[in-house]
Amino acid sequence: MERKIKNGDKFGEWTVIKAYSSTKGTRRKSICRCSCGVERELDNRNLLNGQTKSCGHKRVENITKARYAKTDKRFIGKTFGELTVIERVNNKGRTRYKCKCSCGKEVEVIASNLERGLQVSCGDYRKHRTEEHLEKFLSEGRKKLDEKLVEDTNLYLLDSGLSKNNTSGCRGVYLIKKSGRYRAAINFQKQYHNLGTFKTFEEAVEARKAAEEKYFKPMLEKYKDEIENI
Ligand SMILES: [Zn+2]
Ligand SMILES: [Zn+2]
Repeated sequence: MERKIKNGDKFGEWTVIKAYSSTKGTRRKSICRCSCGVERELDNRNLLNGQTKSCGHKRVENITKARYAKTDKRFIGKTFGELTVIERVNNKGRTRYKCKCSCGKEVEVIASNLERGLQVSCGDYRKHRTEEHLEKFLSEGRKKLDEKLVEDTNLYLLDSGLSKNNTSGCRGVYLIKKSGRYRAAINFQKQYHNLGTFKTFEEAVEARKAAEEKYFKPMLEKYKDEIENI
């Protein structure tokens, strides 16, 4: 003879909320609520003999945990460009990790962006506009570099292509050994523009800067926000 089931009885994670709610054939059934909130109509016999103890949510949780652990192994403690992964950020949607940038700043980064090299620093381009950083960016992340292409111009390269104010060298200015003159040039929208040769380094730099004003500045202005986010 079956033991009587009452409302409020507990079987593992199940709590009976409506005992003997229905019968199918000779089997008695009760409506139960799992500790996680799921409600289900269950055979009393299965409740009594311990066949069912929960809706199975723990199993799902464990599978999720195992999957996370596997992903964490690929990321936590590893370095991607300037970023060292500290810990997983628990939120909905895409897996994110909290990372520490070489400049000290902490940022949350989408995991797949780390692996694909789409994000290699905190994103503060003012702090990471160094040649070295650019090189890292190029070597580690570049497969998707074309995504930053607008109007045939790579914003990242454009931004780091600005000449620096020093006399030891200037991007786009070269000494012609034979003549001792300086050539100024600029690459823009996949085109090489020869800006001419000059007697002095300073003149060549002038020409280069004027060309940057002409070619780069309008693009830099137009895509200011995108560049901030690189
Ligand atoms: Zn449950
Ligand atoms: Zn940084």
